[in-house]
Amino acid sequence: MAIRIDGVTKQFGAFRALDDVSLVVPQGSLLALLGPSGSGKTTLLRIIAGLETADGGHVYYDDQDVTQRSARDRNVGFVFQHYALFRHMNVFENVAFGLRVRKVPKAEIHRRVEELIGLVRLSGMERRLPSQLSGGQRQRVALARALAIRPQVLLLDEPFGALDAKVRQELRQWLRRLHDEIGMTSVFVTHDQEEAFEVADEVVVMNKGRIEQHGTPRQVFDQPANPFVMDFLGHVNVFSGRVQNGKAHWGGVEVEYPDYPHGESREAAVYVRPHELDIERFEGDGALKIEVKRVNPTGSIAKIYGVSVDFGSPVHVELPAERYSELELREGEVVYVAPRRVRVFLPEYSI
Ligand code: ADP
Ligand code: MG
Repeated sequence: MAIRIDGVTKQFGAFRALDDVSLVVPQGSLLALLGPSGSGKTTLLRIIAGLETADGGHVYYDDQDVTQRSARDRNVGFVFQHYALFRHMNVFENVAFGLRVRKVPKAEIHRRVEELIGLVRLSGMERRLPSQLSGGQRQRVALARALAIRPQVLLLDEPFGALDAKVRQELRQWLRRLHDEIGMTSVFVTHDQEEAFEVADEVVVMNKGRIEQHGTPRQVFDQPANPFVMDFLGHVNVFSGRVQNGKAHWGGVEVEYPDYPHGESREAAVYVRPHELDIERFEGDGALKIEVKRVNPTGSIAKIYGVSVDFGSPVHVELPAERYSELELREGEVVYVAPRRVRVFLPEYSI
């Protein structure tokens, strides 16, 4: 089942939570909705589910317009961050719930529930109550419950948000395998980019009720559409510079920028990721002079914080551990940083 959202808007009083959102989720894909808190992710997911009605626009499942259909008639499974299980029901009964409501025959319920409990690796725990399970086990029960009705669409709203890092890591891997085995179309909300990048086929970055970018994890990370996406997806150095004649300049550094071939000089924001900067002891072409303020060698990456000698702006650099030990950097010394790669954004595209 493919999901198509066409020009959806949603207003809460005077506040526009979704502003003309259009999106296609291909059949069988796992798509992550990524964005800061308040950007409209949950609202969009609830509209896809039919738990919330849009003020304008349409939602299609394949070719069917389901905009006016209730959540129950859409045959979706959903899991929320705090999906309270029925506390007085054991694991088996929690998973069986949707099937009992739908009056599925007993023998069939038994068969399907046992299969699902096996799938989420909780066999032997059927008689336990939610209070007798760990957080990770409870979320797996919530997932099994969502899957019991054999949804064609699985919607998850920060399902692992309340769990600790190690359990999250395990569950997200496991969700990916489960998604592939069952062959559903899944939409997964998260504010954690690592989570999105690790499990999703496609990532949608949202901000203020709008979609900033939609692409594969790689596209979004390597070719951020605008400064918002670039900033949101990790630490960046931002320099103010200028573009002219196919080149960008800042602080004495010059790099190719063929997207701006014009002779008229314009202001531009130059973005460089910390791992795309190298450090040299000697001044070369296109290098920025910095004073090293702090070094933090942790594991395979050393983080270096410096300040531009000429401009006073902060510069973050990440070096591989070998390169770092080769350089023998000391705090307080002056070195030169050179970018391997930059992105330039002209003000009209910036936010
Ligand atoms: P996200 O999931 O990305 O954090 P939400 O979709 O939950 O964002 O919310 C988007 C914005 O809409 C927020 O500013 C939120 O306060 C507002 N909002 C969400 N639901 C309601 C509601 N039922 N009534 C009023 N405002 C709401
Ligand atoms: Mg939310």
